[in-house]
Amino acid sequence: MSRETTQSGNRHKTLGVLGDGQLGRMFVQAAQRLGFEAVVLAPQANLHGAPSPAAQVSHHAITADYGDTVALKQLAAQCFAVTTEFENVLADSLALLAKPEHHVRVSPKADAVRIAQNRILEKAHFQSCGVPTAPYVVIDSQQQLGAVPPDFYPAILKTARMGYDGKGQVTVRSAAELRAAWQGLSQVACVLERRLTLASECSVLLARDESGQLIHWPVQRNVHVNGILSTTEVDLAPLATDAQLIRAAQTIATDMAYVGVLCIEFFILQDGAWVVNEMAPRPHNSGHVTMDASSLSQFEAQVRVAAGLPLVQPRQHASCVMVNLLGDLWFDGATDTTPREPDWAKVLALGNAAVGVHLHLYGKAQARRARKMGHINVTASNLTAAWQTVSSIQHILH
Ligand code: ADP
Ligand code: MG
Repeated sequence: MSRETTQSGNRHKTLGVLGDGQLGRMFVQAAQRLGFEAVVLAPQANLHGAPSPAAQVSHHAITADYGDTVALKQLAAQCFAVTTEFENVLADSLALLAKPEHHVRVSPKADAVRIAQNRILEKAHFQSCGVPTAPYVVIDSQQQLGAVPPDFYPAILKTARMGYDGKGQVTVRSAAELRAAWQGLSQVACVLERRLTLASECSVLLARDESGQLIHWPVQRNVHVNGILSTTEVDLAPLATDAQLIRAAQTIATDMAYVGVLCIEFFILQDGAWVVNEMAPRPHNSGHVTMDASSLSQFEAQVRVAAGLPLVQPRQHASCVMVNLLGDLWFDGATDTTPREPDWAKVLALGNAAVGVHLHLYGKAQARRARKMGHINVTASNLTAAWQTVSSIQHILH
């Protein structure tokens, strides 16, 4: 653990965050807008004097592992509330911070993170809420491998823990492929899900505070490419099934007494039926649309819950398309090895009185393919206008 941080005399107005990526950075920026200071704790927060995306914008940074109890106590001494930017942070660390002697507000709670970080517990929670999931079986023994019915394929084997952006997932078409795939994943606990034919994907973002006050944003429609979110759109006008998805999301949050920002992903099937996929106990990439199209951003909501400020139902004031900016855009074609900054001036010039072009860059030192470097929100009075500008942006960037 490094102690390059200065001790803050402003504990009562400092918020802490575990993790230091772009989600932590945007949390810190929202916190500062409301007059708070911020402290981040992460293993690489300030390694070799190169601050991470969140550490760049924070008053204080603690470079330490998430399980480092000395560092966690130092964090608790510096702030009055702690939150996290990702679910693979140790739930035990949140439990330690929440001990009464630390006098720190913790959101989300360790119990909820324990469920959300493990696909087996997560699916069991969805089922206990009466919310439909894709057919699945738990795989954590040879015996269970043998018990998968032949008509279950094609299926997707997903590690129970530590998966994101399609990592830790293998599509399998037969018992033999399943056996090999599980071997390839070192036989860790997994779920095997039937691969469904999706008509579309969407997510519901909500926030819930200690008193049970629950707010939500309009349903977000998501397009993934190679397992990574590519675009999200939100319309001012809801679809017929949206109310059902929002109700399911509310039940999932309430039944685990959730506190914080929660994002729940759904699959819409060809016949119009839907199933829940997974949830993230934090702000979510698809929720970035809230930064420019809503009266309340997901990061401000996270700040409000952390700090004990009121949650109010947000007002959507524009249709919006969010475009993720992956590191691939920094390279000319597949063989190029020298990254160069895209022409942001050209992109920004596309905004006008009817269409807003909002560029968000995460301050990552190096562009790498498939790495999330930033995003652009395009806002307009309708989606057609927003998509027109998105295609002009894509023309410039590609
Ligand atoms: P991650 O944690 O990587 O986001 P997901 O379970 O959300 O993992 O899977 C990533 C993407 O893979 C999904 O958004 C979807 O496009 C596709 N996918 C995942 N599970 C299924 C499934 N059972 N059937 C069809 N597509 C799936
Ligand atoms: Mg997902």
